[in-house]
Amino acid sequence: MATMIIEGDRTKAASGKTYEVRNPATGEVVDEVPAGGPADVDKAAQAAAKAFTTWSKLPANQRREILHKASQHMLSKVEEIAPVLTKEQGKTLLESRLEARRFGENIGWFADLADKIHGQYVRLPDLTTYGLVVRRPIGVCGAIVPWNFPLTLAANKVAPAIAAGNTVVLKPASTTPLATLLCIEALIEGGLPEGVVNVVLGQATGEAIVAHPLIRKIALTGSTPTGKRVMAKASETLKKVTLELGGSDPCIVLDDADLEGAARAISVGRFFNCGQQCLSTKRLYVQEGAYDALMEKLVARAAKLKPGNGLDKDSRMGPMHTETQRAEVEAQLKDAVDRGAKVVFGGGRPTGSEYERGWFIEPTIVENVPDGARMWTEEVFGPALPVRKIKDLDEGLRLANDTQFGLGSSIWTANMAAAHRAVQELEAGYTWVNSIVIAHDELPFGGTKQSGFGKEHGVEAFLQYTEEKSVVYGGV
Ligand code: NAD
Repeated sequence: MATMIIEGDRTKAASGKTYEVRNPATGEVVDEVPAGGPADVDKAAQAAAKAFTTWSKLPANQRREILHKASQHMLSKVEEIAPVLTKEQGKTLLESRLEARRFGENIGWFADLADKIHGQYVRLPDLTTYGLVVRRPIGVCGAIVPWNFPLTLAANKVAPAIAAGNTVVLKPASTTPLATLLCIEALIEGGLPEGVVNVVLGQATGEAIVAHPLIRKIALTGSTPTGKRVMAKASETLKKVTLELGGSDPCIVLDDADLEGAARAISVGRFFNCGQQCLSTKRLYVQEGAYDALMEKLVARAAKLKPGNGLDKDSRMGPMHTETQRAEVEAQLKDAVDRGAKVVFGGGRPTGSEYERGWFIEPTIVENVPDGARMWTEEVFGPALPVRKIKDLDEGLRLANDTQFGLGSSIWTANMAAAHRAVQELEAGYTWVNSIVIAHDELPFGGTKQSGFGKEHGVEAFLQYTEEKSVVYGGV
């Protein structure tokens, strides 16, 4: 049975309660897990606060070295961790390997920033005094993670937090705790001191983290409704919050685009991880002259994505993570079809005995989806893509921005003026121009509108795990 990681303890829930983690491809039990609650969060927060007193005071270059060694050790375990991620989440082994590697690389990337925190010297009017602005770690940080990318989204929070000298109470999604435990255990085996990252498990631990008085900052990745609840609760103790929430990323393809490149990017953007991605291509707007050729290419690519158990090497798309999640996407699809949309590819569940016990779904492409359909107005968190023909860039930009969300966006065109205009006008935290939708370590990532605020990745994320303090030195 898996246990929580609280300082040196590998512990069950204080209540003794447990729950089962099941494989979305087979329904089999993968492991039994402690169902933690407020008492466990309290223990973890105390442990993190204690560890903060030493971790935050370590010379920054030592912190950097410890994190590098720990990340290298974790990276040596990718082949052990990846199958566990596939079993609990459903994604293919290739996707799990990529994700586990990204966890270790992310820790390494932020480790390099650990000793590069700078302050300022400020002249003051009274020349017998001067000012400094220093940056200090915040304290104990709460990291709350969803189930779609359990490892990368944990690393996005843990890596900058601990590199800057903070300590962490981490809560994975209740359905995907196992690979995360292995990653954190590997960091500890590789030299990360106990107590710097503590892992609590179970649905009830999220609210307890947000409410805990010792925790000074919350970083959440999750749905927009969860983000609103977390923000309201965090206001009671005035915690800082970073919210990475839902999205419905538009992609505009103009007539002059490289259609082969666009088709590849859109296919990865919509179908990677069985479409369960925050940054993704969720609404596609294609100019009339490119429409037929692009659709042909997209359908050809979708046809190659054989659904299957992520552990089978010929599977190209795992199952959806839960029955509820699949039902939601199917309901959104049905709504579109009931309103007159045409399914161009997929639209159902794959058939055959290997699909009977899992939450499998076909990669799906739909056209003529009318205005107001749920596929346009809601986030579609699965492998179903609505496509619409547009006359020109004006229409594309108007439709792209007609959403409550503002996470990512893309445009494919050979016209630099059109690309530049899209970059200026698309209301999103990220715009890819003629480029595949991948979040880079080097660039700050985060949404606008109801996709949240605050940044992950980049120097910007690192600085958000520090606080500025002004200092006046007198009598000099
Ligand atoms: P979710 O909001 O249901 O849960 C996310 C996490 O928050 C889980 O660990 C959950 O237990 C916890 N949680 C739920 N209610 C809470 C509360 N009241 N207080 C504290 N914690 C609480 O999301 P999900 O279904 O696990 O993930 C899918 C959603 O996440 C989608 O909307 C997707 O777009 C979004 N997402 C966003 C990003 C991004 O970077 N913007 C990345 C991945 C996923």
